[in-house]
This record gives sequence, C-alpha cells and structure tokens, in this order.
Amino acid sequence: MTKEEFIRELAKLNIEASEQNLKALDRYKDLLIEYNQKFNLTAIKTEEEIYLKHFYDSLTLTKALDLSQNYKLLDIGTGAGFPGLVLKIFYPHLEITLLDSNHKKIMFLNTVIKELNLTNITCLNIRAENLPNNYRESFDIVTSRAVSTLSILCELSLPFLKVNNLFIAMKGDSEEEIKKSSQILEKLDSKIINVIKFNLPNEASHRSLVIIKKLKKTKEKYPRRYDKIVKSK
Ligand code: SAM
Repeated sequence: MTKEEFIRELAKLNIEASEQNLKALDRYKDLLIEYNQKFNLTAIKTEEEIYLKHFYDSLTLTKALDLSQNYKLLDIGTGAGFPGLVLKIFYPHLEITLLDSNHKKIMFLNTVIKELNLTNITCLNIRAENLPNNYRESFDIVTSRAVSTLSILCELSLPFLKVNNLFIAMKGDSEEEIKKSSQILEKLDSKIINVIKFNLPNEASHRSLVIIKKLKKTKEKYPRRYDKIVKSK
C-alpha cells in the first residue's frame, strides 16, 4: 500500500491523517526498518507492507470503537507497537499501556516513543499472566493482535479489564477459535457481543475483530500460570 493509498483507505474509515500523523508514521517506519535489521522485530519488512499490514491494519480497530473517548487502553503482546503505538499517534489523548514479554521489542518501543515525543504512554516488559494485582480491573479497553488463540487471549486479557468494558481481539479468520472459546468465556464471566469481518484493501487477507464484553469481576484464580492456561485449552 503506497502512502497515497493509505490516506485514501483511512478516509474510508473516517480517519483524516494530518501532516503530523504522517510525519510521525514515516519516522516510525524508518526506525522499524533500521532496528529490524539488528533485532528481527517483525516479519513485515518493506515500506508498502508496513503501511498496509501494520499501520492501516492497526487503525481498523476504529471499526469497533469510537476512539475519541478518553480510554485507558492496554495492548497485550504489542510486539513492535501494533496496534497500540499507531493508535497513540492518531489519538494522542488515549492513555496507552504497551505490554510485551520480549525485551528487545520494549527497547525499540521506548526509542520510538522518545523520538516522537509521545507522552502518557507506558511500556511494560512482562508476561501478561504475570501482571501484578494493581492492574486488575483497571483498563477501559484491552486489545491484542496476532498473539495467541482466542481462548488463551481471553484469560490473559479479561482479568485486567474493567467490568462492562470491551476486549477486542484482532484476528484473521476466527470461526474455529470462537467455537473453542465458549467454555473459558463462561468461566471468565464474559461474552462475545459482535464479530466484525472484513478484508484488507489490496489483497484478500481476511480480518476479524472479535468484540468481547466482560460482565462480572474476574475470579481471583485467573489468569493461571501459562502452562496451565495452555494445557486446559
Ligand atoms: N501485536 C503485534 C503485531 O500484531 O505485530 C505483535 C505480534 S507477535 C506475532 C506476538 C507478540 O506477543 C510477541 O512480541 C510476543 O513476545 C508477545 N507475547 C506472546 N505471549 C505473550 C504473553 N503471555 N505476555 C506478553 N507478551 C506475549
């Protein structure tokens, strides 16, 4: 996707990209390409792929959410910052926490945040299931893209979401994973309220936004240790 196509496709999502947004993304893209050569941060390496599969794809979250609200948002397994860091560039009022267990990725994210002078954004180098108790029930929105199966993700994310709020899993095809998630969703007192399906522009890749609402406070025993989470799925 060229930059011109990116701007056109964003307009279809009702997003107007300012000069400042585009400049910040361009710097982010340059840093991603540079650091990727040293640290292998992402398999997506060319400029056109980055604009489509990272930047545009991250912003498709707006199909599910009105991001003009003052949300406190957690992005689990953000990797090189997708979707969380792209959302911060376009919606600077959001209070964003980027979480990843990979130290190199967190170092990269801190470099980008400093270069772009972003504020009210925090990076946590920790596994989601090890997040301390003070983070429980504390986020308005939790997101996660391309991290794990839906069942595993539900257990990693829902404990940290406030009651009556939304976890949005950004996935490819999701039907099989949705079928397998019914048991754990019941245990976590949450339910899928919508699935938004679409294709990425320029190619036939399927995408779905699985929108899950948390109905009650999560029982203390969740999330369990990672080996237990995986074993029970
Ligand atoms: N969300 C990014 C994206 O869409 O490009 C990164 C996806 S990458 C395939 C998955 C990321 O999830 C990796 O950076 C990995 O370190 C992280 N991850 C996997 N399991 C995790 C866990 N339990 N806690 C924290 N991070 C995790």
